[in-house]
Amino acid sequence: MTSLTDALLVINAGSSSVKYRVFSLNDLSPLAADKITRIGESGSAVQSFKQAFELILKDTQPFNIKAAAHRVVHGGTFYHAPVFVTPEVIKNLASLNGFAPLHQPHNLQAIAIMAEIFPDLPQFADFDTAFHVGHDPVYDAYALPEYLRNMGLRRFGFHGLSYQSICDQIKRDRPELYPKKLIIAHLGNGASICAVENGKSIDSTMGLTALEGLPMGTRSGSIDPGLLLFLGQEQNQSFDDISDILYHQSGLLGLSGISNDVKELSASSNPSAAFALDYFSHKVAQHVCMMMSSLGGMEALILTGGIGENSNIIRKNIEKRLSFLPTFESLIWPTDEENSIARNVKELLKI
Ligand code: ADP
Repeated sequence: MTSLTDALLVINAGSSSVKYRVFSLNDLSPLAADKITRIGESGSAVQSFKQAFELILKDTQPFNIKAAAHRVVHGGTFYHAPVFVTPEVIKNLASLNGFAPLHQPHNLQAIAIMAEIFPDLPQFADFDTAFHVGHDPVYDAYALPEYLRNMGLRRFGFHGLSYQSICDQIKRDRPELYPKKLIIAHLGNGASICAVENGKSIDSTMGLTALEGLPMGTRSGSIDPGLLLFLGQEQNQSFDDISDILYHQSGLLGLSGISNDVKELSASSNPSAAFALDYFSHKVAQHVCMMMSSLGGMEALILTGGIGENSNIIRKNIEKRLSFLPTFESLIWPTDEENSIARNVKELLKI
């Protein structure tokens, strides 16, 4: 009987979906992949995360899975690199749930379910915040009193696994570009921009939470903090109401009143859809300039993520708005977050 290929299972769990990919531990070639969506929604064949993971484990039977590696959005000040998951790690990561309510609890739920149905499998967590570790404090601080800054209330930045993927690919495919001043815009349902030099993150538009910076599918991005005080103090909105507005009702959805989806908005003849797309492009261009200030220029702008890789309307609008700048190279590059996780965790397994 032939022996099964040693493999790593990479898992990216969201609020109603799980994406997975199986990599050969030998050369990191992809062996299998799928995305289970609409978990728990009415009419969906998959009614629970447990059921989704049972399906995934069935799909991975032809391989000798040595470990599972999870995308975890927030590592806080606890973790700067991937870690082996222990009960203490879970406790630390759960303490960050409030800083990433759309992602962190779902990432941890995936780890818990895997531990339940596959108790002997070693599990690792890799973080979207890790790529941004080492920023100059001037980019990470909020202008708050010292006692609040000492509580760890500072900017972290996210989408690091995507930025790492782009940097790794550039190093491989365009090595002359790698040491340059790059601005990478990850534009998907979540969106942020990162200033990179020599493959290192210098600054990013996201902060303590994944709300800061660009408007997104349903998230507001940066707004006047006084507006939140007004909603609470004058409109008697609860924290839950405000949270729901900022995370679920705003961004492209809030602006258009139609959809959070760029493809859908691009196909609409409604002026509010055009306004939302124009507003998003303007904010991207504006935040690119902000990142240029941190970086001291820009030699290439790289767009990635579902919107960055596919939307001509958004790309052309951003380029037009930045046409006053000295020449820079404008590139589209597909991201591969799962590959970043596989590379990072493979390194760890060697130790
Ligand atoms: P997530 O952050 O959930 O991984 P994605 O990176 O897949 O999301 O990005 C989703 C966004 O990309 C949606 O707004 C979607 O409309 C947009 N998108 C995907 N394909 C296209 C396309 N061909 N044209 C325009 N927008 C697209």
